[in-house]
Amino acid sequence: MELNVSQLLMEPSGSSREYELDEESFELVESFGKNRIHGAVNLLRTNKSIWVSAGLHSTLDSECGRCLTPYSHPIFLQVEEEYIPTLNPLTGARVTPPSDDSDYYLIDENHTLDLTEVAREYAIMALPMKPLCSQECSGLCSTCGSNLNHTRCACEAPVDPRWGPLLELMSGATETN
Ligand SMILES: [Zn+2]
Ligand SMILES: [Zn+2]
Repeated sequence: MELNVSQLLMEPSGSSREYELDEESFELVESFGKNRIHGAVNLLRTNKSIWVSAGLHSTLDSECGRCLTPYSHPIFLQVEEEYIPTLNPLTGARVTPPSDDSDYYLIDENHTLDLTEVAREYAIMALPMKPLCSQECSGLCSTCGSNLNHTRCACEAPVDPRWGPLLELMSGATETN
């Protein structure tokens, strides 16, 4: 996830680089498994920074929130971020970071642009609020715990309390008949 940008930093603004990023085993989000991450990275030199545009594919290993079955969740990260150099590549002088509160990342003193932190932040934002193996997942029986996607258990479906008065009325009606 690290790119050396010392050459690009010495080029005029408007210069760019294309990279194909491919890592076999990368932990994007803690406890969501190590998976392949790959995609295209475009670096554009601006007058004071390097603008990163990347489209990264990866997978998160998760557990369905309804049936608790492990499943893999593909994610795509569309990254647009600005990276400011720590050192001037020509003089080696320390660059004063912009004082406005714009969002940016830093290129380190070895002119390494590291996408790790950015990819992790984007992945956390892309995490599903409620992970589901499929939208139609039937979940687990609340009585016996059977996975209702695979089996039908013998437990009775719980009666919605709002039906209570109507059911009483109906049983009363059958008695008088
Ligand atoms: Zn499920
Ligand atoms: Zn059951």
